[in-house]
Amino acid sequence: MIEISGLTKSYGSTTVLDGIDLTVADAQIGAVVGPSGAGKSTLARTINLLERPTSGTIAVNGRDLTALSGSELRAARREIGTVFQSANLLRRLTAAENVALPLRHHGVPDNQVRRRVHELLERVGMLHRANHYPSQLSGGQRQRIGIARGLALKPSVLLSDEATSGLDPDTTLSILTLLRELRDDLGVTILVITHEMDVVRGIADQVARLDHGRIVERGAVADVVRGS
Ligand code: ADP
Ligand code: ADP
Repeated sequence: MIEISGLTKSYGSTTVLDGIDLTVADAQIGAVVGPSGAGKSTLARTINLLERPTSGTIAVNGRDLTALSGSELRAARREIGTVFQSANLLRRLTAAENVALPLRHHGVPDNQVRRRVHELLERVGMLHRANHYPSQLSGGQRQRIGIARGLALKPSVLLSDEATSGLDPDTTLSILTLLRELRDDLGVTILVITHEMDVVRGIADQVARLDHGRIVERGAVADVVRGS
Protein backbone atom coordinates (compact mmCIF):
# COMPACT_ATOMS: atom_id res chain seq x y z
CA MET A 1 0.00 0.00 0.00
CA ILE A 2 0.98 3.59 -0.42
CA GLU A 3 0.32 6.26 2.21
CA ILE A 4 0.98 9.87 1.41
CA SER A 5 0.79 12.14 4.36
CA GLY A 6 0.97 15.92 4.67
CA LEU A 7 2.77 16.15 1.34
CA THR A 8 3.77 19.70 0.50
CA LYS A 9 5.90 20.91 -2.38
CA SER A 10 6.95 24.52 -2.73
CA TYR A 11 9.18 26.22 -5.25
CA GLY A 12 10.39 29.33 -3.49
CA SER A 13 7.28 31.07 -2.23
CA THR A 14 4.98 29.13 -4.62
CA THR A 15 3.22 26.23 -2.93
CA VAL A 16 2.25 23.74 -5.62
CA LEU A 17 1.13 20.89 -3.35
CA ASP A 18 -0.36 21.76 -0.02
CA GLY A 19 -0.76 19.03 2.59
CA ILE A 20 -1.83 16.11 0.41
CA ASP A 21 -3.09 13.05 2.31
CA LEU A 22 -3.78 10.03 0.16
CA THR A 23 -3.84 6.29 0.79
CA VAL A 24 -4.28 3.46 -1.67
CA ALA A 25 -4.66 0.07 0.01
CA ASP A 26 -3.02 -3.12 -1.30
CA ALA A 27 -4.30 -4.19 -4.70
CA GLN A 28 -6.65 -1.24 -4.91
CA ILE A 29 -6.79 1.30 -7.71
CA GLY A 30 -6.82 4.88 -6.52
CA ALA A 31 -7.11 7.92 -8.74
CA VAL A 32 -6.24 11.57 -8.47
CA VAL A 33 -8.13 13.74 -10.90
CA GLY A 34 -7.76 17.44 -11.47
CA PRO A 35 -7.66 20.18 -14.07
CA SER A 36 -4.57 21.55 -15.75
CA GLY A 37 -2.40 23.39 -13.24
CA ALA A 38 -3.81 21.52 -10.24
CA GLY A 39 -0.42 20.01 -9.40
CA LYS A 40 -0.78 16.53 -10.93
CA SER A 41 2.62 16.28 -12.59
CA THR A 42 4.33 17.71 -9.54
CA LEU A 43 2.53 15.10 -7.45
CA ALA A 44 3.61 12.34 -9.84
CA ARG A 45 7.28 13.44 -9.83
CA THR A 46 7.24 13.62 -6.06
CA ILE A 47 5.61 10.23 -5.62
CA ASN A 48 8.05 8.45 -7.92
CA LEU A 49 10.91 10.09 -6.02
CA LEU A 50 12.22 12.20 -8.87
CA GLU A 51 11.68 15.24 -6.67
CA ARG A 52 11.94 15.60 -2.94
CA PRO A 53 8.91 16.99 -1.13
CA THR A 54 9.26 20.15 0.92
CA SER A 55 7.56 18.28 3.75
CA GLY A 56 5.42 15.23 4.33
CA THR A 57 5.96 11.53 3.84
CA ILE A 58 5.41 8.88 1.18
CA ALA A 59 5.33 5.43 2.70
CA VAL A 60 5.21 2.20 0.71
CA ASN A 61 4.31 -0.85 2.78
CA GLY A 62 4.88 1.18 5.92
CA ARG A 63 8.33 2.53 5.05
CA ASP A 64 8.84 6.25 4.42
CA LEU A 65 10.83 6.76 1.22
CA THR A 66 11.25 10.53 1.33
CA ALA A 67 14.14 10.66 3.78
CA LEU A 68 16.44 8.37 1.80
CA SER A 69 19.40 9.26 -0.38
CA GLY A 70 22.16 7.58 -2.35
CA SER A 71 21.96 3.82 -2.76
CA GLU A 72 18.99 3.57 -0.41
CA LEU A 73 17.04 5.99 -2.58
CA ARG A 74 17.97 4.08 -5.72
CA ALA A 75 16.79 0.85 -4.12
CA ALA A 76 13.58 2.50 -2.89
CA ARG A 77 12.75 3.69 -6.42
CA ARG A 78 12.13 0.03 -7.32
CA GLU A 79 9.08 0.09 -5.07
CA ILE A 80 7.24 2.49 -7.36
CA GLY A 81 7.00 1.81 -11.09
CA THR A 82 5.80 4.59 -13.36
CA VAL A 83 3.86 4.56 -16.61
CA PHE A 84 4.38 7.93 -18.29
CA GLN A 85 2.31 10.00 -20.65
CA SER A 86 2.95 8.81 -24.25
CA ALA A 87 4.95 5.92 -22.74
CA ASN A 88 8.22 7.87 -23.05
CA LEU A 89 10.10 5.01 -24.74
CA LEU A 90 13.63 5.43 -26.08
CA ARG A 91 13.16 5.46 -29.83
CA ARG A 92 16.51 3.92 -30.69
CA LEU A 93 15.73 0.82 -28.62
CA THR A 94 13.34 -2.01 -29.48
CA ALA A 95 10.32 -2.77 -27.33
CA ALA A 96 12.22 -5.58 -25.59
CA GLU A 97 15.26 -3.38 -24.98
CA ASN A 98 13.07 -0.64 -23.51
CA VAL A 99 11.54 -3.12 -21.09
CA ALA A 100 15.00 -4.41 -20.21
CA LEU A 101 16.34 -0.96 -19.31
CA PRO A 102 15.35 -0.80 -15.63
CA LEU A 103 16.55 -4.39 -15.14
CA ARG A 104 19.96 -3.63 -16.64
CA HIS A 105 20.12 -0.39 -14.68
CA HIS A 106 19.69 -2.41 -11.49
CA GLY A 107 22.33 -4.95 -12.47
CA VAL A 108 20.05 -7.92 -13.12
CA PRO A 109 22.10 -10.65 -14.90
CA ASP A 110 21.56 -11.10 -18.66
CA ASN A 111 19.91 -14.52 -18.58
CA GLN A 112 17.41 -13.29 -16.00
CA VAL A 113 16.78 -10.11 -18.01
CA ARG A 114 15.85 -12.17 -21.06
CA ARG A 115 13.48 -14.37 -19.10
CA ARG A 116 11.86 -11.45 -17.31
CA VAL A 117 11.42 -9.36 -20.49
CA HIS A 118 9.75 -12.32 -22.21
CA GLU A 119 7.39 -12.77 -19.26
CA LEU A 120 6.56 -9.03 -19.15
CA LEU A 121 5.93 -8.72 -22.89
CA GLU A 122 3.69 -11.78 -22.75
CA ARG A 123 1.74 -10.31 -19.85
CA VAL A 124 0.98 -7.09 -21.72
CA GLY A 125 0.21 -8.98 -24.96
CA MET A 126 3.21 -7.62 -26.86
CA LEU A 127 5.44 -10.66 -27.36
CA HIS A 128 4.85 -10.40 -31.11
CA ARG A 129 6.20 -6.84 -31.09
CA ALA A 130 9.35 -7.52 -29.06
CA ASN A 131 11.74 -6.48 -31.82
CA HIS A 132 9.78 -3.50 -33.10
CA TYR A 133 10.93 0.04 -32.54
CA PRO A 134 8.55 2.55 -30.92
CA SER A 135 7.93 4.25 -34.30
CA GLN A 136 6.59 0.94 -35.61
CA LEU A 137 4.04 0.64 -32.82
CA SER A 138 0.64 2.24 -32.27
CA GLY A 139 0.06 4.56 -29.30
CA GLY A 140 -1.71 1.80 -27.39
CA GLN A 141 1.07 -0.69 -28.13
CA ARG A 142 3.69 1.79 -26.99
CA GLN A 143 1.78 2.25 -23.77
CA ARG A 144 1.66 -1.53 -23.24
CA ILE A 145 5.44 -1.53 -23.53
CA GLY A 146 5.55 1.40 -21.09
CA ILE A 147 3.48 -0.62 -18.63
CA ALA A 148 5.78 -3.64 -19.00
CA ARG A 149 8.78 -1.40 -18.31
CA GLY A 150 7.00 0.11 -15.29
CA LEU A 151 6.48 -3.39 -13.88
CA ALA A 152 9.96 -4.69 -14.68
CA LEU A 153 11.34 -4.40 -11.15
CA LYS A 154 8.19 -5.84 -9.53
CA PRO A 155 7.16 -2.62 -7.82
CA SER A 156 4.58 -2.66 -5.03
CA VAL A 157 2.98 0.41 -6.53
CA LEU A 158 2.38 1.29 -10.17
CA LEU A 159 1.94 5.00 -10.79
CA SER A 160 0.11 5.90 -13.98
CA ASP A 161 0.91 9.49 -14.89
CA GLU A 162 -1.55 10.55 -17.61
CA ALA A 163 -0.84 7.20 -19.25
CA THR A 164 -3.91 7.31 -21.50
CA SER A 165 -3.70 10.97 -22.53
CA GLY A 166 -3.86 11.27 -26.28
CA LEU A 167 -5.22 7.76 -26.83
CA ASP A 168 -8.59 7.28 -28.51
CA PRO A 169 -11.47 6.01 -26.31
CA ASP A 170 -11.23 2.36 -27.41
CA THR A 171 -7.47 2.24 -26.87
CA THR A 172 -7.88 3.99 -23.52
CA LEU A 173 -10.39 1.33 -22.51
CA SER A 174 -8.03 -1.48 -23.52
CA ILE A 175 -5.22 0.06 -21.45
CA LEU A 176 -7.48 0.49 -18.42
CA THR A 177 -8.62 -3.13 -18.81
CA LEU A 178 -4.99 -4.23 -18.87
CA LEU A 179 -4.21 -2.24 -15.72
CA ARG A 180 -7.14 -3.84 -13.94
CA GLU A 181 -6.00 -7.32 -14.99
CA LEU A 182 -2.51 -6.56 -13.69
CA ARG A 183 -3.96 -5.45 -10.38
CA ASP A 184 -6.04 -8.65 -10.20
CA ASP A 185 -3.24 -11.00 -11.28
CA LEU A 186 -0.20 -9.44 -9.60
CA GLY A 187 -1.84 -7.72 -6.66
CA VAL A 188 -0.05 -4.51 -7.53
CA THR A 189 -1.42 -1.30 -6.02
CA ILE A 190 -2.18 1.28 -8.70
CA LEU A 191 -2.36 5.05 -8.44
CA VAL A 192 -3.76 6.73 -11.53
CA ILE A 193 -3.16 10.45 -12.01
CA THR A 194 -5.27 11.94 -14.78
CA HIS A 195 -7.22 14.94 -15.97
CA GLU A 196 -9.86 12.65 -17.54
CA MET A 197 -12.94 11.86 -15.48
CA ASP A 198 -13.81 9.05 -17.91
CA VAL A 199 -10.58 7.31 -16.99
CA VAL A 200 -11.47 7.55 -13.31
CA ARG A 201 -14.92 6.12 -14.00
CA GLY A 202 -13.37 3.34 -16.03
CA ILE A 203 -10.90 2.09 -13.48
CA ALA A 204 -10.73 3.51 -9.98
CA ASP A 205 -12.03 2.19 -6.68
CA GLN A 206 -11.41 5.47 -4.88
CA VAL A 207 -10.82 8.95 -6.20
CA ALA A 208 -9.46 12.21 -4.85
CA ARG A 209 -10.02 15.48 -6.62
CA LEU A 210 -7.00 17.78 -6.72
CA ASP A 211 -7.39 21.50 -7.24
CA HIS A 212 -4.85 24.25 -6.66
CA GLY A 213 -2.56 21.81 -4.88
CA ARG A 214 -5.15 20.54 -2.43
CA ILE A 215 -7.42 17.53 -2.23
CA VAL A 216 -10.83 19.18 -2.32
CA GLU A 217 -13.01 16.07 -2.43
CA ARG A 218 -12.51 12.34 -2.04
CA GLY A 219 -14.44 9.12 -1.85
CA ALA A 220 -15.93 6.29 -3.87
CA VAL A 221 -15.97 7.00 -7.57
CA ALA A 222 -19.76 7.00 -7.81
CA ASP A 223 -19.95 9.79 -5.22
CA VAL A 224 -17.14 12.00 -6.43
CA VAL A 225 -17.82 11.87 -10.15
CA ARG A 226 -21.53 12.56 -9.73
CA GLY A 227 -22.39 15.72 -11.58
CA SER A 228 -19.01 15.92 -13.31
P1 ADP B 1 -0.75 19.79 -13.64
O1 ADP B 1 0.12 18.62 -13.96
O2 ADP B 1 -1.96 19.42 -12.83
O3 ADP B 1 -1.12 20.60 -14.84
P2 ADP B 1 1.65 20.94 -12.49
O4 ADP B 1 2.12 20.06 -11.40
O5 ADP B 1 2.34 20.88 -13.80
O6 ADP B 1 0.07 20.77 -12.67
O7 ADP B 1 1.72 22.46 -12.02
C1 ADP B 1 0.97 22.95 -10.92
C2 ADP B 1 1.38 24.38 -10.64
O8 ADP B 1 2.71 24.39 -10.17
C3 ADP B 1 1.35 25.28 -11.85
O9 ADP B 1 0.84 26.53 -11.46
C4 ADP B 1 2.81 25.37 -12.24
O10 ADP B 1 3.09 26.61 -12.85
C5 ADP B 1 3.51 25.27 -10.90
N1 ADP B 1 4.86 24.67 -11.02
C6 ADP B 1 5.16 23.43 -11.46
N2 ADP B 1 6.48 23.21 -11.42
C7 ADP B 1 7.05 24.35 -10.96
C8 ADP B 1 8.39 24.78 -10.71
N3 ADP B 1 9.44 23.97 -10.94
N4 ADP B 1 8.57 26.03 -10.24
C9 ADP B 1 7.51 26.85 -10.00
N5 ADP B 1 6.23 26.51 -10.23
C10 ADP B 1 6.00 25.29 -10.70
P1 ADP C 1 23.27 10.14 -6.07
O1 ADP C 1 22.54 9.54 -7.24
O2 ADP C 1 24.46 10.97 -6.45
O3 ADP C 1 23.53 9.17 -4.96
P2 ADP C 1 20.86 10.98 -4.83
O4 ADP C 1 20.31 9.68 -5.31
O5 ADP C 1 20.92 11.22 -3.36
O6 ADP C 1 22.28 11.23 -5.46
O7 ADP C 1 20.03 12.17 -5.46
C1 ADP C 1 19.85 12.30 -6.83
C2 ADP C 1 18.79 13.34 -7.11
O8 ADP C 1 17.54 12.91 -6.50
C3 ADP C 1 19.07 14.72 -6.54
O9 ADP C 1 18.64 15.67 -7.47
C4 ADP C 1 18.25 14.79 -5.28
O10 ADP C 1 17.78 16.11 -5.03
C5 ADP C 1 17.08 13.91 -5.59
N1 ADP C 1 16.63 13.24 -4.40
C6 ADP C 1 17.39 12.75 -3.42
N2 ADP C 1 16.64 12.15 -2.48
C7 ADP C 1 15.36 12.25 -2.90
C8 ADP C 1 14.12 11.79 -2.37
N3 ADP C 1 14.00 11.09 -1.24
N4 ADP C 1 13.01 12.04 -3.07
C9 ADP C 1 13.09 12.71 -4.22
N5 ADP C 1 14.23 13.17 -4.76
C10 ADP C 1 15.36 12.94 -4.12
